[in-house]
Amino acid sequence: MRCSICEDAAVARSSRSRKLLCSSHFMEAFEDQVAETLKAGRMIEDGDRIAVALSGGKDSTVLLYVLKKILAGEAVELFAITIDEGIKGYREDTIGYARRISEDLCVELKMISFRDEFGSDLDRIAKGRDQAPCTFCGVLRKSALNRAARDLGATKLATGHNLDDEAQSVMMNYLKGDIERLFRLSPRRPRPGLVPRIKPLRHIAEKEVALYGILAGVYPEAPECPYAHSSLRFEIRRMMNGLERDHPGTKGSVLRGFEKILSSAEDRPAVTPLSCCRICGEPSVGDLCKACHLLGRSR
Ligand code: SF4
Ligand SMILES: [Zn+2]
Ligand SMILES: [Zn+2]
Repeated sequence: MRCSICEDAAVARSSRSRKLLCSSHFMEAFEDQVAETLKAGRMIEDGDRIAVALSGGKDSTVLLYVLKKILAGEAVELFAITIDEGIKGYREDTIGYARRISEDLCVELKMISFRDEFGSDLDRIAKGRDQAPCTFCGVLRKSALNRAARDLGATKLATGHNLDDEAQSVMMNYLKGDIERLFRLSPRRPRPGLVPRIKPLRHIAEKEVALYGILAGVYPEAPECPYAHSSLRFEIRRMMNGLERDHPGTKGSVLRGFEKILSSAEDRPAVTPLSCCRICGEPSVGDLCKACHLLGRSR
C-alpha cells in the first residue's frame, strides 16, 4: 500500500487523519500534532526552562527527541531529569538508555535517586507493605521530580504521558470516585510550589508514540518493570485495550469526554489549597505531604 501523500510505501494509518502514511509523512504528522498540542494548550512560552522527566522508556525518550526537534531555534531551554527509583533488574537498562539519549541529543541530564531523596530504594521501601509498589513509586517520583525541577529553575515540567495513560488516569479516578484528583488532571492549573506540568503527547496513542520512536531510531528495547502487573492501572490498561480493540476510538472519547466535562464544569470543585509539609517542606494538602505519609514520617 502507498502513502496517501507521496509514492512511498505506507507504514501506518494515522489514527487522527485516517490516511495511510509513509515513514517520513507519519513522522511529520506526529511532530505537527505535538506542536499543535503545545500551541493549543499554551504549554510553552518564550523564556521557558523546560525540564523533561526522562525515565529512559519509550514515551519520555520520544518526548525528549521530539521536543528537541520542534523547539530548535525557539527561545526556550531544555534539560532532562531522571529519577532512579531503585528497581533491581529493571532500572539499570533504562537509566543507561536515558544517559545515552541525552548525550546523543546534547541535552543536560540531572540524575536523582530515591536512595538520596528518601534514604532507600523502592525495592526496600515497598517490601512487606500493604500498598502496591506503584503507589510508592508514583507518589515519591512525583515529589522528587517536582523538587528537582524547581531547584534547577525549571518553569515547566514535561512528562511523556500519552493518550493511553491519560484515558487510564481518567478511568482510574472515575472508578475510585476521586473527583479532586480527576480535576487535577486538567492541564495548567498552577499551584504554589509546584512546577507547572505539561503533557505534549497526551493526544497521541501509545502505539503511535512507539512507532515514531522506532522510525526515529530512538526506541529503547527496555524490559518491563517487575511490579507493573501489581497495579490497578495495569488492570485498567488491559480493560481499555480490550475496549479499544472492539470499539476503536474508545480511549480518545474517554479523554475528549473528560475535557468536555472540564470546560462545562463552571462550578467544578475547588482544589484544596496547598500548604507546606511540616516534615519535608514540600507542597501538601494538609500538614503532611503524601510522600511523608507513605514513608511513615511523623516527627
Ligand atoms: S510499573 Fe509501578 S513500580 Fe514500576 S516504574 Fe511504573 S509506577 Fe514504578
Ligand atoms: Zn509519504
Ligand atoms: Zn513531606
